[in-house]
Amino acid sequence: MRLIDIGANLTHDSFDHDRDAVLQRARDAGVAQLVVTGASREHSPKALALAQAHPGVLFATAGVHPHHASEYTDECDAELRALHAHPEVVAVGECGLDYFRDFSPRPAQRRAFERQLQIAVDLTVDGMRKPLFLHQRDAHGDFMAVMKDFDGKLGPAVVHCFTGSRAELFDYLDQDWHVGITGWLCDERRGQHLRELVKHIPAHRLMIETDAPYLLPRTVKPQPSHRRNEPMYLAHIVAELARDRGEEVAVTAAHTAATARAFFRLPD
Ligand SMILES: [Zn+2]
Repeated sequence: MRLIDIGANLTHDSFDHDRDAVLQRARDAGVAQLVVTGASREHSPKALALAQAHPGVLFATAGVHPHHASEYTDECDAELRALHAHPEVVAVGECGLDYFRDFSPRPAQRRAFERQLQIAVDLTVDGMRKPLFLHQRDAHGDFMAVMKDFDGKLGPAVVHCFTGSRAELFDYLDQDWHVGITGWLCDERRGQHLRELVKHIPAHRLMIETDAPYLLPRTVKPQPSHRRNEPMYLAHIVAELARDRGEEVAVTAAHTAATARAFFRLPD
């Protein structure tokens, strides 16, 4: 297997003491390439630095998560644009709306989201627009409305860590957006509905991610005592996903990797 983890928060402090070992375990588990999520003004440059230290294996996104929307100033906007000049930064985001936690006020969230979409509009790579790495939680209506304002001006988009309803899934697929599936699928309390829904995602729209260190799959046995999720568990996620889709795991693995490689324009 040559899996691609499209969402790993590898700049997180919990990896500071053993990041190289984490990457080695990922490699041993068949994870060939990873996109490191840049989700704040502080961590987006760190994601780029990690990608630069592991050429061809790690890539980065640069953005500001809705939790951090309050920090989105003109200066922050300029910093993000500078990060996007680097070829290792393969997508705009993580950006979007999160009305579940509301860590930043909703108007600030919408503004930060719009400004990052504007960055995506302004950027081109080889004549093509940069992909978007999007986050939406409990904000579907406003999320769709903001995206509609940019209709026809954006490149490919992935709604990462999909946890929503059937209607939300089909709204995204109708827009030709991609969907990222995490170990949320393995959560018998809140992810049960995804078991059926994932059958409806076409292979060329489906990608996989761990969202490490968050969302340790609950079906990993035994559960590590530290509860930290790691990219090596992507192998577990793809096996569960394949079972739910009624596919051989090798097929799901190959299709999700090919989709991710095309979406982020990663080298082989
Ligand atoms: Zn997210």
